[in-house]
Amino acid sequence: MHQLLSATSADRYVEAMRETVDRLAGRLRDTAQPFSGASRAQLQELVDAVDLDADGLGTRSALREADDLVGEHAVWFHHPAYAAHLNCPVAVPAVVAEAIVAAVNPSLDTYDQSTIGTLMERKLVDWTCGRIGFAAGDGVFTSGGTQSNLQALLLARETAIAARVAAGDSRADAARRLVIVATASSHFSVQKSARLLGLGDDAVLLVRTDARGRMDPAALAGALDTLAAIDRVAMCVVATAGTTDRGCLDPLALIADECDRAGVWLHVDAAYGCGLLVSPTRRHLLDGIERARSVTVDFHKSFFQPVSSSAVLVSRPEDLRHVTWHADYLNPADAEEPNQVDKSLQTTRRFDALKLWTTLRALGADGIGEMFDAVLDLAARVHDEIERDVDLELVGRTELSTVLFRYQPVDVTDAQADRLVPLVRRVLFESGRAAVAKTVVDGRPCLKLTLLNPETTLDDVRAVLDLVRGAGAALVEGDDLVTAAEVGAL
Ligand SMILES: *Cc1c(COP(=O)(O)O)cnc(C)c1O
Repeated sequence: MHQLLSATSADRYVEAMRETVDRLAGRLRDTAQPFSGASRAQLQELVDAVDLDADGLGTRSALREADDLVGEHAVWFHHPAYAAHLNCPVAVPAVVAEAIVAAVNPSLDTYDQSTIGTLMERKLVDWTCGRIGFAAGDGVFTSGGTQSNLQALLLARETAIAARVAAGDSRADAARRLVIVATASSHFSVQKSARLLGLGDDAVLLVRTDARGRMDPAALAGALDTLAAIDRVAMCVVATAGTTDRGCLDPLALIADECDRAGVWLHVDAAYGCGLLVSPTRRHLLDGIERARSVTVDFHKSFFQPVSSSAVLVSRPEDLRHVTWHADYLNPADAEEPNQVDKSLQTTRRFDALKLWTTLRALGADGIGEMFDAVLDLAARVHDEIERDVDLELVGRTELSTVLFRYQPVDVTDAQADRLVPLVRRVLFESGRAAVAKTVVDGRPCLKLTLLNPETTLDDVRAVLDLVRGAGAALVEGDDLVTAAEVGAL
């Protein structure tokens, strides 16, 4: 009894929190590598050994068990040898604010379930719009970039359909004509959203990019003209400010020119690049973002926030009406209070804004921007380093903090280097000593570092590259390892 958070359990809550936080702090002090290196079979055994129908262990034992499982076998994003995906180390004030969110547990759907939380979220939305350069924007926090992109595309779809319906089309006929214009470097959530929004299989048109995967504005102009000529409706152009793989920014201002010319909704997916909004030295890379009709930002990528913390912003507040539904039991049409559910795809919704609020208050916006700058500086130096390295081959330069490369000493053929990519990644991951990612660029596999830790040094990255070289050399040595069967098993 008395396991629920209340006056009676307050003392035990403090004890359980202290014990848990102490244990976590110990792990942070002692974590020698990003991952334990336990095999999936070992981890499955640990999970299988837990009987969820057994009698309760009590809070403290259950938490100790959780630490044995999760604390022991987590992937630690703060470790300097973690350089795989877009996961950032998290700011201390944000992590502690999570404890407030968990204990108070407000729901941001209506004012009467969140009170000041709603006002704080709205202020952060306004702040973000101000940083983007929207004169009077609006928006809402979401669970992530995927949801933000979905919501933006939903608003764009409804706007395009409304215009066609006003011109005499049926809704179904209008919907059939809709096309989203993006590039092959756009995030896959664009395609997924098109499916969720009920658009046709040919509804995402990918236009040509330059050698770094950036949208070619001339190709965009041509695509928009062609669509108009065949009576298809471009409902949205998705420009990416920070592509997930190549870390490049589409030319926002030139794309905005084309969108203005054709009267098309511009969505800027800045899930990765949004940290530039607070960068003291590189804000100009986002020039043109203020001309977007909608923007996605992921604070849990480049603002050092715990998952999840993201937002979708619009330059015209009235666009959000397309997700507004009223229910007598929640947010009646005559409500005078500000109910954020009127602007959101979610109903019950976490107070994710508090983490960002606390971080901004603790570090200041410049403090966050300087951390993002630090990883961009580091990435530039790592590019130089790899460019000079005889064993490693740089795969193009990126503008943000990803680094694409292959292990390919002179005696290794392209085909061998390609086969080595997944094997090297796996050897590193299974050792637990470093985590790097892999992807495919221009049809060839390559390794990818995503640097998002401002405390990682060039020497830290050199150590990861040494592990790559070591794994690569060992695999080449035992060449039988690099067989087609082995690759097929990955
Ligand atoms: C990560 C990413 C997304 C998806 O964001 P989630 O928070 O993972 O849902 C969308 N767009 C881009 C460019 C991204 O890098």
